[in-house]
Amino acid sequence: MPEGHTIRRLADRHWKLFGGRLVTAGSPQGRFADGAALISGQVLESTDAYGKHLLHRYTGDRTLHIHLGLYGKFTDGDGAPPPPVGEVRLRLSADEHWLDLRGPAVCELLDPPEVDALIGRLGADPLRDDADPDAAYARIRRSAKPIGALLLDQSIVAGTGLIFVTEALFRAGLPPTTPGRSVSPQAWQEIWTDLRALMRAAVGVGRIDTVHAAHTPEAMGRPPRVDRHGGEVYVYRRTGQPCLVCGAPVRTAPLAGRNSYWCPTCQVTP
Ligand SMILES: [Zn+2]
Repeated sequence: MPEGHTIRRLADRHWKLFGGRLVTAGSPQGRFADGAALISGQVLESTDAYGKHLLHRYTGDRTLHIHLGLYGKFTDGDGAPPPPVGEVRLRLSADEHWLDLRGPAVCELLDPPEVDALIGRLGADPLRDDADPDAAYARIRRSAKPIGALLLDQSIVAGTGLIFVTEALFRAGLPPTTPGRSVSPQAWQEIWTDLRALMRAAVGVGRIDTVHAAHTPEAMGRPPRVDRHGGEVYVYRRTGQPCLVCGAPVRTAPLAGRNSYWCPTCQVTP
């Protein structure tokens, strides 16, 4: 599933393509025909990302809410849109650009109270300046659940997925199984600051790199990582491979329905 940096990049891109423009909207597949008809002919006033949720705000108090889920995907291009291929839930076009959305988990219109309710359900987004990390920590320090699961709970921290969480915990030296109530205020401050930096960097380059300068392929004289997720990481999906810092084999185990990855030497329960 795309993590928050991808949704932020999409919000920025959609603004570049359609911001301030009158859009034509349709649903070639038909499943969003009523919603598309209400957007069509409106002007895109802003785009925004809250965690993994993408919002387009149009004139007439109409907010388009999209969650890509596991399978959702956008494509876009210049000029006139091509004949729709596959199940195109939403097609937007304006002037010289078009945009297709296929396979989202959510594609719906929200009224202003529904937008407020959606945002109210989401936790602190490290990519947002209006995020409240203290509220997130208040939830974490009250919980006996593993920090690896708490950081994936979108009502606590929004936009983080398994890669950012796994890697931030490695960088903080905490095993993903550490109970939330054992995470000190200092450790939380370090994790939050690190998530902000890692996610901002990923917005800039469009991939997730989490290794310090000393552990890049160039610095270590090792081949770059080959993985469909791309990016240089310490432990995510590196089961059995040597830790880039200490050489111990990276471990994996199920945690809250997902795989967790950690180094048994570098990450020690406080
Ligand atoms: Zn290690």
